[in-house]
Amino acid sequence: MRTTFLPFARPSISDEDIQAVVQTLQSGWITTGSQCASLEQAMADRLGGANVVAAMSGTAVMDLVFRALNIGPGDEIITPSMTWVSTVNLITLHGATPVFVDVDRDTLLVSPESIESAMTSRTKAVIPVHYCGAPCDMDAIRSICDGRGVHCIEDAAHAIGTRLGSSEVGSTGTAVFSMHPIKTITTGEGGLLATDDEQLAQRVRRLRFHGLEVDAHDRSQHGRAPQAQVFEPGVKANLPDMNAALGLSQLRRLDTFIDRRDVLTKRYREGLADIKGIDPVADPTGSHRHGRHLMIVRVEPTQAGVDRDEFMAMLKDANIGTGIHFLAVHTHAWYREHMPQWDGALPETEYNSDRICSLPLFPDMTDADVDDVLKAVHSIVNAQSAVSS
Ligand SMILES: *Cc1c(COP(=O)(O)O)cnc(C)c1O
Repeated sequence: MRTTFLPFARPSISDEDIQAVVQTLQSGWITTGSQCASLEQAMADRLGGANVVAAMSGTAVMDLVFRALNIGPGDEIITPSMTWVSTVNLITLHGATPVFVDVDRDTLLVSPESIESAMTSRTKAVIPVHYCGAPCDMDAIRSICDGRGVHCIEDAAHAIGTRLGSSEVGSTGTAVFSMHPIKTITTGEGGLLATDDEQLAQRVRRLRFHGLEVDAHDRSQHGRAPQAQVFEPGVKANLPDMNAALGLSQLRRLDTFIDRRDVLTKRYREGLADIKGIDPVADPTGSHRHGRHLMIVRVEPTQAGVDRDEFMAMLKDANIGTGIHFLAVHTHAWYREHMPQWDGALPETEYNSDRICSLPLFPDMTDADVDDVLKAVHSIVNAQSAVSS
């Protein structure tokens, strides 16, 4: 058994990352300034000229987009329930109505068909989730949205660096990235908007900092003109330079991170292939580069001899951390109470919500770490089948 605990995620922090943050701390300017601007520019360059705006979390970016699109009472927002709670909380907080669509049982992705059939005259936006870093079928989803004048906001929290065909997520359309510590690159906390809609980007930028108008002066003067005017009431969600400096340094290693995650994922998949009842989430068909954000398996109790919660507890006893990404939003206490109509309405989502478990996956993991997990999984599942036979 492992003598040290293996967490399910851990950020990869290099000496360069540390130096970048230290230099910012020593520079005399630690809140939003040149580092944030450089991070936005580096991501814009990577995405072939998209408009990029940073904020203090992925959730904050999504909130700003909702405000900029005037999402509110009477609006329906189509999204999966198999997502992080932040999106659905925001829909609710803005007074709009979430309309959940089921996901594919094996990829956890929403399909264009399910989105189309959930559309009504009240649909204001669709929020597909690029689950685990696998891209949704965006050509079809965008054309459904465009045909009806509905906004499409891609939840790309898992999908920084993901490509669909040759096109990177965020290079067209509107995508929201997260830089939370478990995500592929981190700023401690942080998020990025990437959009080809320049007006949307401008409004998000303004709403991000009290609704004050941004101009070139801000950049050259290291701050806003003291006379800057509020053009509409905004919030305070700007990303400090301390955080942005880390993100800028991390972004340089994004492709290395994904490549390492891909190698680890393949090792897991080979090792899990002959284990009954431990079923990895599948990759979508079609040309793509997977972001490999999470290594999710489904624990099928009838075959594995343990249920998901027992499986997680036994791995913990073996010094291996796991996570659940995610419990379906409609199964959370508040949503059960206030939106009971969804109970039982999303069979593939509920199937997965009861069975999914994220195994350790992060770039600094060694091959031996993966083998430790595989060994532990083998012994849990074999021990159970020995008991039941
Ligand atoms: C992490 C995450 C978010 C929110 O990002 P934060 O930066 O934590 O606010 C949104 N959606 C999904 C699917 C996520 O995994």
